[in-house]
Amino acid sequence: MDPNCIFCRIVAREIPAVTILETGETLAFLDINPIEKGHVLVIPKVHYPTLLETPDATVCHTMVVVRRIAAALMATGAEGVNVLQSNFACAGQEVPHLHFHVIPRTSASKSMSWASGVGKYASSEERDQLTTRLRDAAAPLLPPPSV
Ligand code: AMP
Repeated sequence: MDPNCIFCRIVAREIPAVTILETGETLAFLDINPIEKGHVLVIPKVHYPTLLETPDATVCHTMVVVRRIAAALMATGAEGVNVLQSNFACAGQEVPHLHFHVIPRTSASKSMSWASGVGKYASSEERDQLTTRLRDAAAPLLPPPSV
């Protein structure tokens, strides 16, 4: 764990996050500044700054969970899903702990925007209702296969 890393501190439960799915190696939680409602981040629990130094098995395991979150989003109203992952600051990476953005899209999506905050929830109740639906959709998919 890197004590200066915000995502490590989420894994350690030192900082709150709205968890959608947790496995032995990964955590999936709502992005605090969503591009779309239902925007989820999937991270390995172990700290690797970027995709480049992450072990193959960890990449595989994390991607299996990314796919499962994508399936849960599709089961709860998404018509399409973007998976986005950035490496290093010049590529737009703000948090140097490997993470995959899983972003639900519909035909009502304003545009193919990558701007943070565009998908803000109208209220905490709206976010909580969506969280429950997503957790319910993702839970039957556990446990992920070992890779
Ligand atoms: P990136 O620009 O790819 O590094 O994305 C970092 C993402 O982390 C952004 O979309 C932020 O909104 C998100 N983020 C930062 N802090 C938190 C937090 N405490 N909880 C959830 N998401 C966060």
